[in-house]
Amino acid sequence: MRVDESVAGGAENGRGTGGTDMVAAWGRVKRRLRAELGEDVFASWFARLELDCVVSGTARLTVPTRFLKSWIESHYLDRVLNTFRAEVEEIGRIEVGVRGTAAPVRPVAPGAPKPGPTSGPLARLHAAGTPAPIAAPAPDMRSEIAGDLTGAPLDARLTFASFVLGRSNALAHAAADRVARHDGEGALYNPLYFHAGVGLGKTHLLHGIGHAAREAGRRVIYLTADRFMYGFVNALKTQNALAFKERLRGIDLLILDDVQFIQGKSIQAEFGHTINALIDAGRQVVAASDRPPTELEALDERVRSRLAGGLVVEIGALDEQLRASILSARLAAVRVAHPTFEVSPAVAAYVARAITANGRDLEGAVNRLLAHATLTGTAVTMETAETAIRDLVKNREPKRIKIEDIQKLVASRYNVSRSDILSERRTAAVVKPRQIAMYLSKVLTLRSLPEIGRRFGGRDHTTVLHAVRKIEKLIGEDAVLGDEVELLKRMLQD
Ligand code: ADP
Ligand code: MG
Repeated sequence: MRVDESVAGGAENGRGTGGTDMVAAWGRVKRRLRAELGEDVFASWFARLELDCVVSGTARLTVPTRFLKSWIESHYLDRVLNTFRAEVEEIGRIEVGVRGTAAPVRPVAPGAPKPGPTSGPLARLHAAGTPAPIAAPAPDMRSEIAGDLTGAPLDARLTFASFVLGRSNALAHAAADRVARHDGEGALYNPLYFHAGVGLGKTHLLHGIGHAAREAGRRVIYLTADRFMYGFVNALKTQNALAFKERLRGIDLLILDDVQFIQGKSIQAEFGHTINALIDAGRQVVAASDRPPTELEALDERVRSRLAGGLVVEIGALDEQLRASILSARLAAVRVAHPTFEVSPAVAAYVARAITANGRDLEGAVNRLLAHATLTGTAVTMETAETAIRDLVKNREPKRIKIEDIQKLVASRYNVSRSDILSERRTAAVVKPRQIAMYLSKVLTLRSLPEIGRRFGGRDHTTVLHAVRKIEKLIGEDAVLGDEVELLKRMLQD
């Protein structure tokens, strides 16, 4: 963050809000937001919110995407302002920008002070010194939304033809295929719902359905959850909500990706209405998520059960054979553009064995091997392959750790039983290992707090959050405990 002392609060109003103070204050603002809004909401919307600069009482914050900017502006601007103001009195307004884009520069009125330099850090501060009002989405954004409602672009590469079949996805693929080709009365399995961990082919299958159904002349809309939310929020803002709904209801097939990201009361209600209306009208709904419908905590019970009421199919992890097939399909696809790119069967087998996590990492591995081969002009050997994919192999490690294994290890380390850890007992001998196990579950797995709570004998997510914070704090204060937890971590990761 940059705070220009001559422009920022400090010098201007004589109060000490220099750079470091402001950074610290911002840290407190984020902690407050987290505490007030809960871990899940915070992680969804605020984790990537950063303070860029403070100028004349305006705090300029940044986020990585336009969607986040618009969402925070329409839902949380007052909240952020009030929280910030509670820490730093002179903050009078909040402005949200997208990282990588410059702050809005307003034309300088005649007689206004000379504008500052046009580049370098000062330029931004000057530009932000006269903040423009927070604007409606830019025109290009609007056409993007319209595009989504008339049919989002489907990735041409993600078709049924390029989808490799294996044991773990055969059922999902069969259901997808039937739904896509169905042209009789009503809808088959409605909704059709896929769930699986990241990179296991959900989006690929959804696009495959979209392509096939469009080829058959059906009206298809593919939306991700954030697009659904954005489209709806924006429709409300521009008073087009009715048109938005009509548009959604005038289709044959609605495909919704990543529904776990649907958030917010009015949005989830609208999401529920939309799904009900489509299903009741005999239109096909297909959805995908990283978890089964019953675990979509952000959604209303009725919406969850509606989503669970059709056919729910889980896509399992990719076994080695499937990984090898996906890998060889990708290598063949790459060779079309790079005919000299050769990967020996031994190297391919090694990669398929080493990368166990998901299809995305397999794709990443192929790109690395290709980069290596084209940059060095040498063939891919086993050694270079090993180096090229080393971090992909490492990165997947945390994802495989099971909460159950954490509980077992921690229990044995502290001489209690796993059922003690899951029990209601509150003696110190049990509470501490329980909290450590919760903490490790949070940092070593991708499970949400509510999910972790459930796995620890049906505890509330706030209990888990409390445990995580407590252990974080203790680790900072107590080096012995810090080492102990680090050791447990290593044992679980090996
Ligand atoms: P998800 O949506 O489940 O996170 P994706 O559908 O985005 O996963 O898949 C990640 C990558 O792996 C994509 O490049 C996809 O094409 C590839 N992939 C996953 N499963 C398969 C499969 N069965 N056949 C071919 N490619 C696959
Ligand atoms: Mg996906």
